[in-house]
Amino acid sequence: MMNHLRCRTCGQTYNPNEPVWRCTCGGLLDLHFQAEFPLDRIQARPPDLWRYREALPLESDDHIIIIALGEGFTPLLPVWIGDKSIWIKQEHLFPTGSYKDRGAAMLISKSAELGISRVVEDSSGNAGCAVAAYCARAGMECDIYVPADTSAAKLAQIQMYGATLHKIAGSREDTARAVLMAAEQYYYASHSWNPFFFHGTKTFAYEVCEQLGWTAPDTIILPVGNGTLLLGVDIGMSELRNAGIIPQKPKLIAVQAAHCSPLAQRFFKPDSEITSPQPTIAEGIAIAEPIRGEQILDAVRNSGGTFITVSEDEIKTALIQMGTQGFYIEPTAAATIAGIQRYLATAPPDEVIVSVFTGHGLKATEKILKFL
Ligand SMILES: *Cc1c(COP(=O)(O)O)cnc(C)c1O
Ligand SMILES: [Zn+2]
Repeated sequence: MMNHLRCRTCGQTYNPNEPVWRCTCGGLLDLHFQAEFPLDRIQARPPDLWRYREALPLESDDHIIIIALGEGFTPLLPVWIGDKSIWIKQEHLFPTGSYKDRGAAMLISKSAELGISRVVEDSSGNAGCAVAAYCARAGMECDIYVPADTSAAKLAQIQMYGATLHKIAGSREDTARAVLMAAEQYYYASHSWNPFFFHGTKTFAYEVCEQLGWTAPDTIILPVGNGTLLLGVDIGMSELRNAGIIPQKPKLIAVQAAHCSPLAQRFFKPDSEITSPQPTIAEGIAIAEPIRGEQILDAVRNSGGTFITVSEDEIKTALIQMGTQGFYIEPTAAATIAGIQRYLATAPPDEVIVSVFTGHGLKATEKILKFL
């Protein structure tokens, strides 16, 4: 059966044109969809993520036209990390300042297509900004739940887009629990539960391959909290391989902050207990209980990749080093750069490596000021 949602737990299927985000058994849904890549037509279109139209699960273009902010096709620039030049995708240059716009633009277009008028979402900040912005474009009401200690710039940004902001005391997991109550009543535009979000973030993979002349890199180094970028890249690379455009998928290297590294711990020591998380300046990946954890571990393992953890000091050093090269990124994004440095220490020579600046420094100015 083509084009359906399928439960990862019980196998139950659903019509993707019904507003379901979770199986009745409580399981996670994946979207099964046949992506196509008519290269001549793609290359004739404007440089945004909608150029991959035949690979995007939307029935019509009607809502794309309303919400589009020129998102996607971010530059892929060579950046010196130590003495090696690495391709870094400039995802901090998105309309809301992070790559989350890929997922939000796709998910909110789909939500509009489903006739939804109000959504709820929870986030450590950037996904909330992205969903709020695209809801503003779509004329959709939205409620965003965030932990009370989220960066002030992100809180301002969410409110500027006209969303209703709910600050929740306690951990990121307390915020997730609060939004699940609201999701009983309204459509949950979740970047971790909702399968359409990942069919937006997958366009990262398409762009990287197109920018490298329709070839895949050997290795992609990505941050991982809930895995919204990593799982999207895994989907996108699978689709490109299945379409015969790339011969094989790249190796995925997943970076976590050592202070909050549940998946790295499960990857290396599956039978040990996970240490309780400590606060980290990489707030965007501080996810103690990622709901798609198993899926992330499988994606990394099947790609022949691995996990890397980085300390708070390594993150700060990487952040400052990027500043001296002219890149103002947020600390969460610097965690990935610290991960590249670790990876390069033992990397095979002559690999083509791609990584990412996930978020803009202007989102975290007050946190960055503290250690300048
Ligand atoms: C969301 C985000 C990430 C990746 O987080 P996931 O939880 O794995 O999706 C990394 N950096 C920034 C700046 C982010 O906003
Ligand atoms: Zn199920």
